[in-house]
Amino acid sequence: MDNGLPILFRSYTVVTPDAAAGVAVTEEAHVAVVGNRIEYVGTDLAAATQILGSGPHVEYAGRGKLLLPAFANAHGHTAMVLMRNAADDLNLHDWLFQVIFPMEKRLRRQDVYNGSLLGIAQMIRSGTGACADMYFHSDVTVEAAVTAGIRMNLCSEGKVSGPEPGSITVRPDMLEDFVRLCKSTGEGRIQPSLEIHSVYLYDEALYPALAEMAKAAGISIQTHLAETRKEVEDCVARYGRRPVEQMERFGIFEVPCLAAHAVYLDAQEMELLSAKDVTLVHNPSSNMKLGSGVAPVCAQLASGIPVALGTDGAASNNTLDIYREMRLAAFLAKGNALDASALPAATVLRMATDTGMKAMGFADSGRIEAGAKADLQILDTGDLSLCPLGDPLSAIVYSADSCAVESLMVDGRMLMHKRELLTLDEERIRYEAARSARYITGGTES
Ligand SMILES: [Zn+2]
Repeated sequence: MDNGLPILFRSYTVVTPDAAAGVAVTEEAHVAVVGNRIEYVGTDLAAATQILGSGPHVEYAGRGKLLLPAFANAHGHTAMVLMRNAADDLNLHDWLFQVIFPMEKRLRRQDVYNGSLLGIAQMIRSGTGACADMYFHSDVTVEAAVTAGIRMNLCSEGKVSGPEPGSITVRPDMLEDFVRLCKSTGEGRIQPSLEIHSVYLYDEALYPALAEMAKAAGISIQTHLAETRKEVEDCVARYGRRPVEQMERFGIFEVPCLAAHAVYLDAQEMELLSAKDVTLVHNPSSNMKLGSGVAPVCAQLASGIPVALGTDGAASNNTLDIYREMRLAAFLAKGNALDASALPAATVLRMATDTGMKAMGFADSGRIEAGAKADLQILDTGDLSLCPLGDPLSAIVYSADSCAVESLMVDGRMLMHKRELLTLDEERIRYEAARSARYITGGTES
């Protein structure tokens, strides 16, 4: 499509996190992309054109369309799209132990691959250029991410189960192999981390061993933290401490950490987390759907803790659409605080872009500025959800349907242009995912 030529995005309304912790909106702006980097953003067409050089370039005419950073979906289990609409109206513990775990017992490598491609395709269609993933057989999800061209931060489990019930052995060699795989493929778009599922799932001795492994490998940890009231009560009963303090004692926060949910944090826990390299991930749909509760996002941000946004898996969402998460995040915060100014649109957009990108190891993404990676999306202002447009920032966070995403570029490469997926075969993905979904829900493979 773009054949590696320099690209000029001409006459767009650029909406981006700025250096002053806000969001800047620039009308009639031009964006020059050379290779995988944005080299110019501004209203001076001659300056933008000069950067492209004297050779041929590709030009896209904006005519007032919106150009904004590709989204970061900072918590999810991509292949769980296979379980979409298969386990609903259940509380987290019943949902997880009675429905999800039995289905996951049947998961084969090809199912994870098929589900990963389906999830990635849906994320590309809704403007997401990078996602965090915590699931099984991550090496096949790496393959799917590289095929699609999306950025991903994926987990290694770093352990195996033995024949005895509950016997698990840590495997630093597995983690090292996974880190090597991530570093050697995808030209910097694939980042490794270690999964520590939650404070409630493993034997006590396993946690310090896993934390030590992540530290030795120099990688981050992904975890679920303080998701439900039951988790907190069980943790206090088991260890005499709440989850944050217990995880700190295990050494989990010795390395950068992406901690999803964080619904039940008290002031002391927030103070502790603010001193660590921890990014919390707000998952409003999943927290609502599983009846977990409302995360105190405004208090977390006020404590100085970075908060990103994530969909969680499609089994508890049931979609992977960051537009819906942004809207719900803002509305929940306002309704909960009885204050319409709580969690304003600019804060929400930053959570969905630069905060998430940075936490996943993609610090050069998440902003439309000279020197940043060319990770961007275009919103078609002709879509009825954006008509009339009004304030562009409000339009993005409060009113846009994700089908208004016209194009998505990651690392200087168009993954979707004018609603056509350029790296993935959508029809084949649908067919293979349906086969896998039938199998894991107890059917035979047809
Ligand atoms: Zn999750």
